Amino acid sequence: QVVTRFAPSPTGYLHIGGARTALFSWAYAQSKGGKMLLRIEDTDRERSTEAAVVALVDGLKWLGLDWDGEPISQFGRAARHAEVAHELVKMGHAYYCYCSPAELDQMREEARAAGKPPRYNGYWRDRDQSEAPAGVSPVVRIKSPVSGDIVVDDHVQGKVVFKTENLDDFIILRSDGTPTYMHAVVVDDHDMGVTHIIRGDDHLTNAARQIVIYNAMGWTVPEMAHIPLIHGPDGAKLSKRHGALGVEAYRQMGYLPEAVRNYLARLGWSHGDDEIFSTQQMIEWFSLEGLNKGAARFDFVKLENINGHYIREAAPDYLYGVMLATAAEVGREVDVAGLIANKDTVLSALPELQPRAKTVLELIDLAQFIYAVRPLIIDAAASAHLTVDTRAVLKDMAEVLRGLNEWSVPAIDGAMRELAEARGLKLGKLAQPLRAALTGHTVSPGIFEVMVLIGRDESMARLEDQTV
Ligand code: GLU
Repeated sequence: QVVTRFAPSPTGYLHIGGARTALFSWAYAQSKGGKMLLRIEDTDRERSTEAAVVALVDGLKWLGLDWDGEPISQFGRAARHAEVAHELVKMGHAYYCYCSPAELDQMREEARAAGKPPRYNGYWRDRDQSEAPAGVSPVVRIKSPVSGDIVVDDHVQGKVVFKTENLDDFIILRSDGTPTYMHAVVVDDHDMGVTHIIRGDDHLTNAARQIVIYNAMGWTVPEMAHIPLIHGPDGAKLSKRHGALGVEAYRQMGYLPEAVRNYLARLGWSHGDDEIFSTQQMIEWFSLEGLNKGAARFDFVKLENINGHYIREAAPDYLYGVMLATAAEVGREVDVAGLIANKDTVLSALPELQPRAKTVLELIDLAQFIYAVRPLIIDAAASAHLTVDTRAVLKDMAEVLRGLNEWSVPAIDGAMRELAEARGLKLGKLAQPLRAALTGHTVSPGIFEVMVLIGRDESMARLEDQTV
């Protein structure tokens, strides 16, 4: 059975790059009928926070990426990490090293002087424990192979060869008995039964060191796929301005989780030219071979277009819930109150609003005409349509509308056409001032639909606000 894992360090939020790693690990497990596990890499006690764990879990849940079982705390497994380190010593694959910081400094100096990279020279590798200085707690170092190559046979990067001469006897257990990151990852992945590791290619060199530990324990090395990091549109490291944000920032900007999921899937993975696909399709199509070797570039325009697609396709009652939650999350109290008080109207307006919005925030802006409070705030572009001349026409329109027997789109439409014809004006010429007066904006659903949605009394009142 395929077992993948997502292993974030809880030092911030769920970063968009981490979210993509989680998505791939999840999709691969799903595609194979396997499991994805969640391991919180909280061994760095200074930097790990409970709030960050909550943010990670929330972010994954929002994206709909579920994991199997309880999240595993790496810190909670420290005793097991120590046990394996001591076992490696017993097996002769690791050893205690008693070097003091001063001795290590000197070692590095000597290496530097000899024109070699500064690293540990294996001083205690074959030394007898009887020489150990009293009162010194040793670290445990792994015996790295002295010759040959370590090959990372990677599903994305291909065969990557590391020369063992570049690997020193790195520390696996510190003198205080805590594991190093390198060691903890291997022990955890092994114990959790992880078969496939999918993670950022910034971990590729770690993979070589981790393989040394796997080999020493005689454990099977999991399959690996190191994916290129996400870059900005200019090809440089992803900056905040270009999208290096936590997933909650995307939620607050009004992106739907299914759109973010679809977009992230395309960012570093492809299935032909398909841009839009359901999660079910992604799972069906997902393969490690489809992961791209080249760095992906983050593109807000593409994300927005995909988001627009999902907004158009969504059911109004679902969108209504997202609008409400988003407005509340970003502190738009007036919108929250308006949306709640006018739920039915918003729901019936949504099919008209959906094709006009690319984000949930735009959708909220578009819905504002429904609960706008009189006298309306008229934005600058709309103001330009309210001149002395057009206000005079609006006054005549109000007159005609007042005399209507029926308040419906066809009835209003008919009356307005008649008026336009009588004035020798195009219907469009009437519509813009009307829209300005009724919504305060220049963009809205069909203006006659707007009038029916807000009702006769409110329509007439808003019109009169601009004509008397
Ligand atoms: N905790 C590491 C990170 O957040 C991931 C380690 C791994 O996937 O092996 O970058």
